[in-house]
Amino acid sequence: MSKFWSPFVKNLVPYVPGEQPKIANLVKLNTNENPYGPSPKAIAAMQAELGDTLRLYPDPNCDVLKQAVARYYDVPVNHVFVGNGSDEVLAHAFHGLFQHEAPLLFPDVSYSFYPVYCGLYGVSFEQIALDEQFQIRVEDYARPNGGIIFPNPNAPTGCLLPLAAVEQMLKDSPDSVVLVDEAYIDFGGESAVSLVSQYPNLLVCQTLSKSRSLAGARVGLAIGQPELIEALERVKNSFNSYPLDRAAIVGAAAAFDDREYFEATCAKVIASRESVVAGLQALGFEVLPSAANFVFARHPEHDAAELAAGLRERSVLVRHFKQARIAQFLRITIGTPEQNQALLDALGQIR
Ligand code: PMP
Repeated sequence: MSKFWSPFVKNLVPYVPGEQPKIANLVKLNTNENPYGPSPKAIAAMQAELGDTLRLYPDPNCDVLKQAVARYYDVPVNHVFVGNGSDEVLAHAFHGLFQHEAPLLFPDVSYSFYPVYCGLYGVSFEQIALDEQFQIRVEDYARPNGGIIFPNPNAPTGCLLPLAAVEQMLKDSPDSVVLVDEAYIDFGGESAVSLVSQYPNLLVCQTLSKSRSLAGARVGLAIGQPELIEALERVKNSFNSYPLDRAAIVGAAAAFDDREYFEATCAKVIASRESVVAGLQALGFEVLPSAANFVFARHPEHDAAELAAGLRERSVLVRHFKQARIAQFLRITIGTPEQNQALLDALGQIR
């Protein structure tokens, strides 16, 4: 604690992101990045933007990008919000939509940034336990609340809640915002964007960091009815008018327009996921059903922290969370077929 700090800083417990180590030849399967690069059209659009116009501020409303998202999802442009990574979009949602007397509800095993934003913005919350199979039980959320948030598929489990169950949650809490964080939806789920026109309490959040392979560009978005979008715009325009730079805006728009590349790379990741699951099961791992670009797996005879350390010695990086209920799991990002084989070979050596 420094005498210079605002008092609330003393109590902040910041989020700890996965490592980005500078080790050569690392098989990096720890932060759910896409093993394939961004669309060549996105790269070309970003490169074309890097010139004299950089002396000018970008469009504060990011119209070109919002229009591309609106085209892709066939929603009106005023249903779209964009921000500097979905982390920023989520932050604005916590700030602008979740500060209520009743607690925000989210799963006990979930994205570990949620409690951090609650701490930052003074949002009271209650964590609801996943069931024994690590699944969300919709009926547990049908209780008084000041909002609901969950990733779908969930992180770090990878488990998907079917769209009908999401819709039930929206019906059960018509007076609160239900935020579906769809960071990984393109790897096997059905987006709730199709429900936005029927449910004024639904906000869907997505990122270009995973399925569109633009983690380094920092672009996220939200889709909801204008009443919710206006809250996000008000918070954003009271914080930073220009969260997206010129290259990010055009690159993200081009990525949304390049459906063919997007679908082909997602299909490759999904096919690899199925072979990683089979490979892990052959080594004796229990693997939760995943609809994401990662799997969550535990071995009945091997300690997860020791496995993670053994993999690291072999230059394979995975994520391990020292957290109740999941301390024996490893979260493994799906890589290229070569990276996945390196992972399975290394695990075969350790066992
Ligand atoms: N939501 C979930 C569930 C995530 O796992 C992540 C990635 N850490 C994010 C949101 C944030 O992604 P980004 O800020 O890169 O858009």
